[in-house]
Amino acid sequence: FPEVDDSRIKMRTAQLNQLNAEEQKKLLLRPVLNSLAMIDKVKPIVERVRKEGDAGLKAMTKQFDRADLSSNVMLPPFATPSENELPPDVKKAIDVAYENVKTFHVAQNEKEPLVVETMPGVVCSRFARPISRVGVYVPGGTAILPSTAIMLGVPAQVAGCKTIVMATPPRPDGSISPEVLYVAKLVGVTCILKAGGAQAVGAMAYGTEEVPKVDKIFGPGNQWVTAAKMLVQNDTDALVAIDMPAGPSEVLVIADHTANPIFVASDLLSQAEHGTDSQVVLVAINLTSQHLADIEEQIDIQAKALPRVAIAREAIKKSVIVLVDNEKEAIDFSNEYAPEHLILHLEDAEGAVKSIDNAGSVFVGAFSPESCGDYASGTNHTLPTNGFARQFSGVNTLSFQKHITSQLVSGDGLRVLGPSVVRLAEREGLEAHANAVRVRLAELSKA
Ligand code: NAD
Repeated sequence: FPEVDDSRIKMRTAQLNQLNAEEQKKLLLRPVLNSLAMIDKVKPIVERVRKEGDAGLKAMTKQFDRADLSSNVMLPPFATPSENELPPDVKKAIDVAYENVKTFHVAQNEKEPLVVETMPGVVCSRFARPISRVGVYVPGGTAILPSTAIMLGVPAQVAGCKTIVMATPPRPDGSISPEVLYVAKLVGVTCILKAGGAQAVGAMAYGTEEVPKVDKIFGPGNQWVTAAKMLVQNDTDALVAIDMPAGPSEVLVIADHTANPIFVASDLLSQAEHGTDSQVVLVAINLTSQHLADIEEQIDIQAKALPRVAIAREAIKKSVIVLVDNEKEAIDFSNEYAPEHLILHLEDAEGAVKSIDNAGSVFVGAFSPESCGDYASGTNHTLPTNGFARQFSGVNTLSFQKHITSQLVSGDGLRVLGPSVVRLAEREGLEAHANAVRVRLAELSKA
């Protein structure tokens, strides 16, 4: 790749059809996460919470978050934050986001069980039930993240989970940010676990005297949180599931001749400001050199105006503009990359959606920035990263539920179905299985 000019905030450029297969593959790579080493580091923390319960949890909250707590949990009713703590316009913005996310996630609830008669008298059905106890982790080390509280709390609420533990690191004075407290109240959590990192994950996975044990843990977080989630999901004693493997956030933007350079640059930067390890890719379809230069100029201008310019600079330095000749090439590349967020700045953006096979969430057209989905349009922002959009969905209402199937076989149904079951059981050498059908067929033959 050509050298980047350090004085400008500039992405490197690659012409896709001039790269060999190996080089093209490299463009799809994300930073390697050394998860095994991190798992070794979090093991003693998780073990300590497991063995010492609340006392261990308190000690680690003091050590890692400098908070000296008398209790690890806050129970409702939570006080509504005062206007001083939470201005009315912030409250209103949270209310708008809460309502939209709730509306979209309520609509995902299955209205009726699926019922199918596969043979006369053989009725199979499938119905959803909430996962009873869930833990939602709201990061809190370096930023206040009420949006994450909404994105995880709302689907837990609308899925009907009975116990919702919302974990978030306390501030040094032991308090919780008013934004997160307000969301916790809206979504009706069972308790707030005032702990962060691996110790919070351990407490939710195994339970302590104060903290209810949960069945599934959701949420983003730093490497301590992510590694602890990976550790506990592999422990059969914990019997706990996690939402998905998490990696640094990423966006892929596809732009054609209709793309507004100001919008394109703003979308790339809204991802780049997340962290120095953020992944930002622009796939440019046959743009003129002037159009490309305008986008690059906007990246430089807009980035330099950001408070988080240093983070954006690092992320942009590692990012790439991929030049392609047509829309098919662009979409094929995007499907291979499987981005967490995909933004379409295309003449027919809506038409292009049908060709998208792999993406966490798609932002369609010039007026659908990722920020809308990150906060308040209604879709969830907890999405698969690192290429996992190939096989994972983002968090949704169903993530907080599981399906049960059932069958109701009538006497007539068993007469039709039974002989096939008996034959298959015999073939597998499972005589008791065959017998369970035979005894019933014998009874039916008397009638
Ligand atoms: P965090 O809540 O994830 O982590 C804070 C906790 O980390 C602390 O409570 C502490 O217990 C633990 N910790 C920190 N240093 C430690 C050490 N040396 N030893 C043991 N434990 C330690 O908050 P954060 O650190 O601000 O990280 C937030 C993360 O969440 C970022 O990586 C961000 O990118 C990510 N995030 C992702 C999304 C998404 O949807 N993809 C959304 C929001 C945040």
